[in-house]
Amino acid sequence: MKKTVKDLNIDNKKVIIRCDFNVPIKDGKITDDTRIVKSLPTIKYCLEHNAKIILMSHLGRVKSEEDKVKNDLSVVATRLSELLDKKVTFVNSTRGEELEQAVANMNDGDIILMQNTRYEDLDGKKESGCDMELAKYWASLGDIFINDAFGTLHRAHTSNVGISTYLPSCVGLLVEKELDALSYLFNPDRPFMIILGGAKVSDKIGLLQNLLPKCDKILIGGGMAFTLLKAEGYNIGNSLLDEETLDFCKKILKENEDKIILPVDVVCNDKYEDTKGTIKDITELTDNEIGLDIGPNTVNIFKNNLSNAKTVMWNGPLGVYEFKNYVKGTDDVLTYLTEINAKTVLGGGDIVAAATACNVTDKLYHISTGGGATLEYLEGKELPGLKNIPEK
Ligand code: AMP
Repeated sequence: MKKTVKDLNIDNKKVIIRCDFNVPIKDGKITDDTRIVKSLPTIKYCLEHNAKIILMSHLGRVKSEEDKVKNDLSVVATRLSELLDKKVTFVNSTRGEELEQAVANMNDGDIILMQNTRYEDLDGKKESGCDMELAKYWASLGDIFINDAFGTLHRAHTSNVGISTYLPSCVGLLVEKELDALSYLFNPDRPFMIILGGAKVSDKIGLLQNLLPKCDKILIGGGMAFTLLKAEGYNIGNSLLDEETLDFCKKILKENEDKIILPVDVVCNDKYEDTKGTIKDITELTDNEIGLDIGPNTVNIFKNNLSNAKTVMWNGPLGVYEFKNYVKGTDDVLTYLTEINAKTVLGGGDIVAAATACNVTDKLYHISTGGGATLEYLEGKELPGLKNIPEK
C-alpha cells in the first residue's frame, strides 16, 4: 500500500497537489465537474492541516496557441472556489516571477491553482516528455508532493513522475480510494462477473488476458462482440470488425467456451445513424446490416448471469450509447446492477458517461475516474505515476 497524505506531516507545509482537473468544457463552461468534486477530500484534508496548497493539473492537449485559449484552467479555479466556498488564486503562468511571487506570498490555508501544465508542451513537450529541469523547478515551489490525479497515473509526465523524483511524495485520498476499489477486483467476492463492451477487441486484449482467468463469466456486447461473433462463424453484416484480432478471438473462445457469453440478438440498422433499428436474432443479420445495440433476449441472458453475482467489473458500453435509439441495452443492464446485491466497479470514460446519463452512479460501488489508468492497472501493468511513491 502506497503512503497517503495521512502518512506525512503536512502541517503548515507547502504541498503541491497534482489533481486531475481535465474536465469537459463547452463554450467556456464546465459541463461535468465530477473530477473537481472528487479532488475535494484531499484539498479539504490539507486545509484542515493549515497547509499552503499549490494545485497543478493538465487540461486537454496543447499543441498550438489556440489550444492554450481552449484549455485555459482559470474556469476550474472559479468552480473550485465555489465548491470550497473559499478563495482560489489562479496564477496564469507555469513558471516565472508571477508564479514564484504568488507562492512566496502564501499564508497557511491559502490555495493557488497554476495554469495548465500542458502549456509547457508548446516548448518541446516539456510536460508530457517528463523534462527533469522543469520537474526540479516545479518541485522547488513546495515541500511535499501529493499525487491525486488517478486519471494520469499511467503516464510519466513532469507534473507527476517528475516532481515526485525531487520531493517527499505520497498519494492523495482519491488515488487511495481508486486503488483500494480496483485492487479489490484482484481478490473479489464470487461469483465475479465481467461486462465488456466498447468498440474494439484490440484495445481490450490485455484486459481479457489478465481478467479471464480470474473471473467466473465474461459478458461481451458492444462493437467488440462482433469480431468474436464472426470468429464463431456468424454473418455480422457491416457491423464493426477488428480483423487483426480474429485469430486471438478464436483462441480465447476455444479456451474459455463456458466463460464467454456473447449476444444472441441485436438491434440493427442499415446505416450508422440514430434512427429506429430492427431487433434481429444474431443468425439473421444480412450483409448490409450493422448491429448497434444488444437485443432484449441478450439483456435477459446478461441479467440471468448477473443475478447471483457478488462482484461485477464493467468496461465499455454495450451499444452505441451516444445514439438514443441504441442506448437501451446498456441502460437496462446498468439499472439491473442497481437492483442486485453485487459490488459493481465501472471503469473507462464511456461507460461512466453512460452511467451518469442513466443516473445510476451513486447506486453503484465504485465509479473509476480514470479510463486508461483503470485499464492498465487491471491489466496488471505498473503505473508510472506510482513508481516514486514509497510504500507505507
Ligand atoms: P471503448 O472506448 O472501446 O470503450 O469504445 C466506446 C465506443 O464504442 C463508444 O463510442 C460506442 O459508441 C462504441 N460502440 C459501442 N457499441 C458499438 C457497436 N455495436 N458498433 C459500433 N460502435 C460501438
